[in-house]
Amino acid sequence: MAQFAVIGLGSFGATVATELVGLKHDVIGIDIEKKYVESISDVLTHSAIADATDEHVLDELNITQCDAVVVAIGEDIEASILCVLHLKNLGVEKIWVKAKSKAHHMILTHLGICKIIHPEEDMGVRVAQSLSYPMVSRYMALNDDHYLVKVEITENLAGTRFHSVMDHVPEVRAILHKREQEIIYSIDPNLILQDGDVLVIEGSIEPLRRLSKHFTAK
Ligand code: ATP
Repeated sequence: MAQFAVIGLGSFGATVATELVGLKHDVIGIDIEKKYVESISDVLTHSAIADATDEHVLDELNITQCDAVVVAIGEDIEASILCVLHLKNLGVEKIWVKAKSKAHHMILTHLGICKIIHPEEDMGVRVAQSLSYPMVSRYMALNDDHYLVKVEITENLAGTRFHSVMDHVPEVRAILHKREQEIIYSIDPNLILQDGDVLVIEGSIEPLRRLSKHFTAK
């Protein structure tokens, strides 16, 4: 169990904090507005109504004891930056910050923040990807060009042999096959795919795009 602080309990901060509690971590949530703190205080391990632009307040809340701090103040860029500066002064090493604009992002980069989050943009990219490749239920970028994608087999591919789909694009690799609770890493090329099966595939974007055509059309 790790200890986290989430500063700013708007919809993004509150979601992060709630998820962390769900993952069995200790979470302190901080917001300047009483109503935001009250709406989530039952869920959190600790909560505080406080101004995160005040270094003494952050110090008193023992923020340095946390394994990581998430700064989820969006609109008030000045408050976000001041808060980050104080956290740095206090010696907090792992700071994740939500950025609202390019200028905000640039300043955070100059302050040495490595984890800068753009939730709206990230979600926009995910929605576009899902619309573009409906069979990809999840994906993970390994680097700028390489992805790990989770593909769900639908009716149109049921009854097809695994190799007859994958052989179209030899540059990509199937990492695993899942059917209900069973996970297989050494996939039999003659395996007959069933509706609801899952494949996790690794490859670069262009071959994955080519492969996607074989998942959408029989
Ligand atoms: P979201 O999209 O997550 O709802 P947002 O990006 O619109 O939020 P804001 O609503 O500006 O961002 O900020 C998120 C939260 O941060 C708000 O609940 C706000 O009260 C809180 N906040 C703003 N300034 C401070 C501060 N100085 N100290 C602590 N909390 C703050």
